[in-house]
Amino acid sequence: MVDKLNTMEFDSAVYKTLLESTRAIPWKIDWASKQFVYIGPQIEALLGWAPSSWVTVGDWASRMHPEDREWVMNYCVAQSLAGVDHEADYRALTSDDRYVWIRDVVHVVRNDDGTVASLIGFMFDISERKQTEQQLVSLQKELEELSFRDGLTGVANRRRFDAIIELEWSNARRNRQPLSLIMLDIDYFKQYNDHYGHLEGDVSLKRVAWVLSSAATRARDLLARFGGEEFVLVLPETDAAAAHSLAERCRRLVCDEHIAHEPSPIGHMLTISQGVGTATPAHDDELLSFIDMVDKRLYRAKQRGRDCIVSTS
Ligand code: GH3
Ligand code: MG
Ligand code: MG
Repeated sequence: MVDKLNTMEFDSAVYKTLLESTRAIPWKIDWASKQFVYIGPQIEALLGWAPSSWVTVGDWASRMHPEDREWVMNYCVAQSLAGVDHEADYRALTSDDRYVWIRDVVHVVRNDDGTVASLIGFMFDISERKQTEQQLVSLQKELEELSFRDGLTGVANRRRFDAIIELEWSNARRNRQPLSLIMLDIDYFKQYNDHYGHLEGDVSLKRVAWVLSSAATRARDLLARFGGEEFVLVLPETDAAAAHSLAERCRRLVCDEHIAHEPSPIGHMLTISQGVGTATPAHDDELLSFIDMVDKRLYRAKQRGRDCIVSTS
């Protein structure tokens, strides 16, 4: 008997030492009174609040980030009433007004009749993990952003164009709104590279992309590099007249840059040719036919002598 008692005393001392020396913070709440029966002293090192200040469930809830409080409380109460062990991540307030990410893992202890007797749990400090998660999310966003951007000019790339034009084509069809498209191609750019070198060619491509991106100003307008020295402007809710005047603005903006192009057969400045098209797509109209039509107009602009705009068939 004496031996057994000693063992029990030994056991509870060991348990206490173990519980209070782990990084996880143990706690127990009596369900009927909603009072803390116990909370590990480690809580003070983590959050700054002394164990004696954790009296009721209300103390726990009031030290939770306001954005997390409602769902965590509702979730934990529902799970407890259902007798289901559960866990929740939330931000806990520190005594010096910071927030620490906590994972609370909860075991529901039930009476013989199935009602809830108490909750026993462990709080884990997961702030480092959360920080890494958040860094990963922002890196992923950055990567996504980069994967839709052209590496040389910084404007949207062909992938982005493909995605947006599909979307805007559907929008235009659904809302019975005109969608305009401008295809722009630098004139005699091969000669430009041959004369000034490929690196200088890159510089001029960037300048053209830069001025073109200032031409269209509405939030949903999109300038993308279609490929090589060819760009495309997607103009939702834009009619033919507005698209044509935007093309005029693009032509003027490039002219105003006065980029020397000595070997150009049509003057000594860098110029662009453009094809413009507008559609209010009907149900059986094909997006590819629309793009093809605008591309043909660009080709006709080249045939007409370049540095011009073709906006009718
Ligand atoms: P056109 O007036 O008929 O459009 O003649 P062009 O010489 O501009 O047309 P072509 O399609 O024959 O040549 C396009 C040139 O654009 C060839 C290619 O070297 C150049 N080019 C394409 N992408 C780049 C790039 O990223 N950097 C540079 N420097 N040149 C590029
Ligand atoms: Mg060209
Ligand atoms: Mg070209």
